Amino acid sequence: MKDVLIARFRAVHSREPEVIARAPGRIEFIGNHTDYNGGTVLGAAIDRGVWVGLARRTDGRRRFASDSRAELVELAADASARATGTSSWVNYPLGMLLVMQAAGIETPAGFDFLAVSDVPPGAGLSSSAALELSSGLAFLAAQRQSLPREQLVKLGRKAENEFVGVPCGILDQGVSGFGRKDCLVHIDCRGPTFGIVPMPPGLDFWVFNTHTKHALVDGLYAERHKECMEAALGIGVGLLVEATPEALAAAETRLSRAAYKRARHVIDEIARVERATEALRAGDMALVGKLLLASHRSSRTWFENSSAELDLLVDVLEAEKGVYGARLTGGGFGGAVMALTSSQFDGDGAKRVEEAYWAKFGSKPDVIRAHTDDGASLVKEAP
Ligand code: ADP
Ligand code: MG
Repeated sequence: MKDVLIARFRAVHSREPEVIARAPGRIEFIGNHTDYNGGTVLGAAIDRGVWVGLARRTDGRRRFASDSRAELVELAADASARATGTSSWVNYPLGMLLVMQAAGIETPAGFDFLAVSDVPPGAGLSSSAALELSSGLAFLAAQRQSLPREQLVKLGRKAENEFVGVPCGILDQGVSGFGRKDCLVHIDCRGPTFGIVPMPPGLDFWVFNTHTKHALVDGLYAERHKECMEAALGIGVGLLVEATPEALAAAETRLSRAAYKRARHVIDEIARVERATEALRAGDMALVGKLLLASHRSSRTWFENSSAELDLLVDVLEAEKGVYGARLTGGGFGGAVMALTSSQFDGDGAKRVEEAYWAKFGSKPDVIRAHTDDGASLVKEAP
């Protein structure tokens, strides 16, 4: 990808990039809708990423290009309005630049910018966080600055929440920032605090993206969020992470059915994240797999954010040899399923899953095989 970036940078900007940074996409491993409830979540940074090349300009112009967009977007150095239409992808790097400036961090005034990526956007792999963090690292490197990893991650989230306008939790940026090869990232969303959990060797990740999305998905996220907060209030805690299964049982009659069901998922799911963390450390992959499947069933039954498409994928995967477990990954209501497998599950297995999906839904999911990788890093420093 580095060579691709350099060649394209020359073609688009007719010069060399001064700095290059890379940040990986990520998979939500377990911990579904736990983040805004103050819970924990495990994620994997993967061997697909966004690469950003940057070279400063002395005229103050900012010229943004991307391999996925034909036209170059040129902005003046004082432009701070959100871009719309086909240029709106610029909001990710521009948002990053603006939140860095607001935090008093020195950033380049004018520059030529190029992003190239092998993280498919909108596939549940968080191309957006990868774009934010790779941009942030490139802006810093151009000024020969650096930042503690935690601050970079928080600025990425702030850019996405406040400038792009997507209310994501800290998972996406946290995993892209703190990822490590052969490890998962454990995030306690209350701090937030970030940790590393080593994984046994010989594991593969597979992601099946259905390209389906519930028409009312934004409204449904907001509704689930509200029901979780309502449940916490009914139980008498600030956030559901503080509630125990016993406290939920005692409050059941006081809660609406919906609030009870959401809380039931979240409280159990946080416990599953912790059990999965221990099982990984112990190398007990059978138990990890069971917890992944239990997570999916809980999302389906209690959080009610699965779909016929996601359920079919999980059921078919569960029956395949070499599959430890599978679950919906990301927000749900459509989207993607991830599976954790041994090398016994291969392209033939993936084909069988695709065929079963085709037989029922008449379309094919996109299939991506991934491995863990390191978090965001600088690839080329300023001369
Ligand atoms: P996800 O993060 O799950 O992939 P999002 O909707 O959060 O999906 O982010 C996708 C958006 O990020 C794209 O619509 C685009 O604006 C931006 N993006 C991602 N990758 C690139 C890229 N290589 N070039 C330009 N924009 C990108
Ligand atoms: Mg995103």
